Amino acid sequence: MSGMQLLVTGGLGFIGSNFVRLILAERPSWRVVNLDAVTYAGNPANLADLAGDPRYRFVKGDIADRDAVAGLMQEGCDAVINFAAESHVDRSILSAEPFVRTNVLGTLALLDAARSAPRRFVQVSTDEVYGSLRPDDAAFTELTPLDPSSPYSASKAGADLLALAYARTHGMDVVITRCSNNYGPYQFPEKLIPLMVTNAVERLPLPVYGDGRQVRDWIHVEDHCRGVLAALEQGTTGEVYNFGGNAERENIAIVQRIVAALRVPASLVTHVTDRPGHDRRYAMDAQKALRELRWAPRWTFEDGLAATVQWYLSNETWWRSVKDGSYRQFYHTWYGERTA
Ligand code: NAD
Repeated sequence: MSGMQLLVTGGLGFIGSNFVRLILAERPSWRVVNLDAVTYAGNPANLADLAGDPRYRFVKGDIADRDAVAGLMQEGCDAVINFAAESHVDRSILSAEPFVRTNVLGTLALLDAARSAPRRFVQVSTDEVYGSLRPDDAAFTELTPLDPSSPYSASKAGADLLALAYARTHGMDVVITRCSNNYGPYQFPEKLIPLMVTNAVERLPLPVYGDGRQVRDWIHVEDHCRGVLAALEQGTTGEVYNFGGNAERENIAIVQRIVAALRVPASLVTHVTDRPGHDRRYAMDAQKALRELRWAPRWTFEDGLAATVQWYLSNETWWRSVKDGSYRQFYHTWYGERTA
């Protein structure tokens, strides 16, 4: 696929910004338009290094704004990759409405706008749509029924079902990717790994939900982005592809690893009231992606985590500016109640 023009949404967020950078590095003849509403999670600094690159254009806008997305489609675009979302489970517990608005209605507006011409539509989804596993359950496959636990995962499941329905009803060229927990550079410090690393650097308490024995399958963001690219280029219309990192770890084990890496006192670890409806375990079976997309994760968890810790140590200005303002307000509302 040479000379592709992509519309990437949510490209100022954690995964979207890593994806845009990967595309421009590995597909030199492609061009990217990045549509992002610049919510609290969208950060222009994430792609500041692309300023002046003629292959990249940023457009500030909302995926739920039908006129704006229709205009961008008319300018020409060969594929849409929809990363834009409200993405934090805890925030969806405090208020679900923005999640339904962006994740469901926003995706619907994009699907409607994309129908006007044959173009691939990649919907970036999550393992959380499958719900929670018990310790001995087999990993999620693409055939596992959807059973979301949080308003966040319910809104993502709703978007997936709309996208699949548009493939069947309107013959749209839709591919869905579902990925496990990402970590890596530019992740907003409300999520587990950057929260723990940055709090540890600041010698702040490290808040661990409940017993901390929730299991997640961790994947480096670069591996996820390579998976989305593989789905874009080789995925079959109407299909779902799971990606995982082959790295099931308990949250508490990750926190202990960060404590050791940064040589901070273990007494900073503070167990707080668990998140309501907290899923106990996620695990991904990514055999289909391996077979059909020839995709496999490249990073081991240990190397990826060490590189990520180092990135946060080397990019203190970035995360200190992000941890300001509305972040502090959310942090105190959420964790203040849990430590009382
Ligand atoms: P993020 O919160 O870091 O970034 C989301 C981006 O979307 C931000 O730049 C934000 O400004 C933008 N955005 C939000 N609402 C918008 C709207 N209405 N219109 C336009 N832009 C809007 O999220 P992330 O962690 O990078 O996740 C990206 C996608 O990947 C999401 O769809 C998420 O569900 C999915 N995902 C994330 C993970 C993970 O571990 N983080 C795992 C699997 C799937």
